[in-house]
Amino acid sequence: MQRFDLKGKVALVTGGNGGIGQGIARGLLECGAAVVIAGRNEEKNKAAVSELSKIGPPVSALVLDVTNEGQCRAAVEEVVRRHGRLDILVNNAGMGAPGGPALPDDMPLVSWHKVIDTNLTSAFVLSQLAYPEMKKVGGGKIINIGSISSYMGAPRWTAYGPAKAGIVQLSKNCASAWGKDNIQVNTIWPGLIDTAMTKTLQGDKAFMARVLPRIAAGRVGAPHDFAGVAAFLASRASDYVTGADITVDGGLLWGV
Ligand code: NDP
Repeated sequence: MQRFDLKGKVALVTGGNGGIGQGIARGLLECGAAVVIAGRNEEKNKAAVSELSKIGPPVSALVLDVTNEGQCRAAVEEVVRRHGRLDILVNNAGMGAPGGPALPDDMPLVSWHKVIDTNLTSAFVLSQLAYPEMKKVGGGKIINIGSISSYMGAPRWTAYGPAKAGIVQLSKNCASAWGKDNIQVNTIWPGLIDTAMTKTLQGDKAFMARVLPRIAAGRVGAPHDFAGVAAFLASRASDYVTGADITVDGGLLWGV
């Protein structure tokens, strides 16, 4: 359908080499966008490109640590060098906590900074770098990845929760500032999704027995569950949607 057509558009997806990011890259490619995925691990990058290139439109990778400002600048420049423009930025790269989730009473400050830098500051840095490129082409779409922990609390989401809450307000403020430039900025809130990040959690029988009954969809989410919503938020179908939060959680957030 033309309204969701992304032909001629160029996307940068951080953390696009696996999990939710790869599901999002798939959705953008299926609608015709050229996609550059970015992650630290070159082997994962290569494997994802090989898988995603079966879809059709050009897909390539670059090595990027989103906590490194210089690498972020180089990444945006490289996308523009490869494709001549940047229309869509997906700030998806994220992590739990180094060494595992920690209680507020014993999380080391260095871990706090790492989580905030990876999950929140990177989205600010990359959005700021993408902004002039999007202006040049008459508009753009920024999709930030929050979490149900943007809203809910838990004992061990000490830094992760604040980072994911922060990205919601970053989205709204960028949406407000850049609406005049035809740039829409929205946040997707995943629930419990089957990726490398949640492998340990999914092995916790007591946790799963508590959480699964609260998911109306009756199952844990999968990366492909993000393909459609990302394509919508990247396309002109969502031109009047900005500063919005969209939960993709099978109903977990409101389930009792
Ligand atoms: P994965 O662990 O499967 O993927 C994380 C991705 O982020 C990888 O591609 C990884 O690539 C990349 N990444 C991590 N740190 C960096 C960094 N410093 N620089 C560049 N890339 C980085 O996790 P998910 O797919 O589950 O997570 C994707 C997003 O969804 C995250 O923001 C996460 O917080 C969020 N989320 C996930 C939920 C879930 O249930 N899975 C629930 C709620 C939110 P590489 O290792 O190559 O750098």
